[in-house]
Amino acid sequence: MTDRVRGSCHCGAQRFSAPAPEIVTHCNCSTCSKRGTVAAYYALGEVEFTLTPETLADYQWGDRMMTFHHCMTCGCPVFADSDAWTTDGGEERPARITLNARLFDDFDLDAVPVRHVDGRTDW
Ligand SMILES: [Zn+2]
Repeated sequence: MTDRVRGSCHCGAQRFSAPAPEIVTHCNCSTCSKRGTVAAYYALGEVEFTLTPETLADYQWGDRMMTFHHCMTCGCPVFADSDAWTTDGGEERPARITLNARLFDDFDLDAVPVRHVDGRTDW
């Protein structure tokens, strides 16, 4: 059984728990690099959220395939969600939740492998 880990934004208004990530993704696309996030991907239903909707803001850009959610009180990017989609190459991608792995508490981000994605070039 995979241990679940908890995470929260800096002020604690937005919280989640999810299976401990076995790998995290560093992406150099404009959103990830400017927001400073490290991505951990999950299927819908794997993540449990305890959110404060009054202070959760949405952000979309470009083709609006993903919605990014951040805490308006402390500014932390918390998670993003995306619907199922098909890549230009015809590959089916399921709907998923992307957590900002930097927000996990009591979890050593340096202890898991890092996948580097060249989002700046590929997207
Ligand atoms: Zn917050």
